[in-house]
Amino acid sequence: MNIGLLGGGQLGLMMIEAAHKLKHKVIVLDKDKNCCASKKCDSFISGDYKNRKTLELLANQSDTFTVETENIPVETLNFLSNFGPVRPSGNCVSICQNRIKEKAFISSIGIPVVPHYKIKSVSDIKKLPNKLPPSILKTAKSGYDGKGQFNIKTKQNLIDVFDELGSLPCVLEKKINLTKELSIILVRDSSGNVANYPIAENQHKDGILDTSTMPGDVAREIKDQVYLYALTIIQRMNYCGVLCIEFFLSEDQLFVNELAPRPHNSGHQTIEASLCSQFEQQVRISTSMPLGSTVLRCPARTKNLMGDLWFKDLDNKKIVEPNWNLYKKSGVTIHLYGKTIPRIGRKMGHLTELFLK
Ligand code: ADP
Ligand code: MG
Repeated sequence: MNIGLLGGGQLGLMMIEAAHKLKHKVIVLDKDKNCCASKKCDSFISGDYKNRKTLELLANQSDTFTVETENIPVETLNFLSNFGPVRPSGNCVSICQNRIKEKAFISSIGIPVVPHYKIKSVSDIKKLPNKLPPSILKTAKSGYDGKGQFNIKTKQNLIDVFDELGSLPCVLEKKINLTKELSIILVRDSSGNVANYPIAENQHKDGILDTSTMPGDVAREIKDQVYLYALTIIQRMNYCGVLCIEFFLSEDQLFVNELAPRPHNSGHQTIEASLCSQFEQQVRISTSMPLGSTVLRCPARTKNLMGDLWFKDLDNKKIVEPNWNLYKKSGVTIHLYGKTIPRIGRKMGHLTELFLK
C-alpha cells in the first residue's frame, strides 16, 4: 500500500524503514526538502500542510494517511479523511497538540494531571493568587524537548514572559518533585484491539529525554495504575494508531504529563528489543494489518545522541564528528538520522543497548 506520511523528521525516517520491510511505500509531505525522511521515502512532496493543491497531490498518491508529529493542522487531517483512513484521526491529534485541550480531556475522564492554570490573556494572570508556587509556563502548542517552557517565580515574572511570548495561549503548571518519569506506548487498531509495550523509565537532561529503559523499575501498584489510566485514555479517545503517554511519579502520586499521537523517543528500544517495533505497529495499523507482538525479547536502554557530542572541542568551536568506535559494543546499535548540521540540544541519533538475561 502507499502510506501518506505527514512530517519528515527522524520518527518518519524510522517509520519508512519499517514500512519498507513490509513492502509498503511511503509518500512524505514536509516543508523542509532536506528533512531526515526525504532521503529514504518513495516520493517526497515539499509544501505546506494547509495548501489544498499540495494535499491533493499527496492524496492522489496515497491509500492511507498517518503522522509523525502532533503539529499537523486538524483541518488537514479532516480533509485527507475524504481520500482514505487517517490514523490517528484529526480529532485525536488535535487533543494531543494542545496542552489546554489535552489536560481538559484527561481530567474530564477522571485521570490526574499536574495542578495548572490555563492562561489565555493577562486578565487570566490577574485572577491568579498573588503568591505563586514555583511553576513552569508552557505554550499550549508546538513545544517539544523542553522548548516553549519557562520557569516562573512571581506573578510579575509571569506577566513579562507571557508578554514576550506575544500572549500565546499557555498553561502554568506547578513544578513538582519528580520521583520518576515513566511512559507507556500503546497500539490500537481500527477494530479496537489494544496492546502495550512494557512501561519505560525515562531520564531527562535540561527538559530533553536522555535515556529510556524498558522495562522500567516500577512498583506493582504504580504499574497497575499506569495500565488502567493508559487503557482508559486510548479507549475513551477511540484512538487508532501508536500512542505514547508520559507520566510523572511524585512520591506515590501518579500524574499524566502529556500524550504523543505517534511513535515516541522512549520507544526506540522496541526496534531491536521487541518482536515488532513501535514503527512497524504504526505501519501495520495504517495499512489495516493485524497488530504485531509487543513482547520484549530482553531489557533494553536507548540513549539519545545529541548535537552536543559534536562540540567537545569548545575552545575553538570546531565541529568534530564523535568517535563512534567508542560506542561500538556487542549488543549496541547506533542509529544516526542523517542530519547534516549538529546543534546543541538537537537529536542527531540514538543508540540502543540490549541487556541479555
Ligand atoms: P516536552 O513536550 O518538551 O516533552 P514536557 O511537558 O514533557 O514537554 O516537559 C519536558 C520535561 O520537563 C519533563 O519530561 C520533565 O522532566 C520536566 N517537567 C515538565 N513539567 C514539569 C513539572 N510540572 N514539574 C517538574 N518537571 C517538569
Ligand atoms: Mg514530554
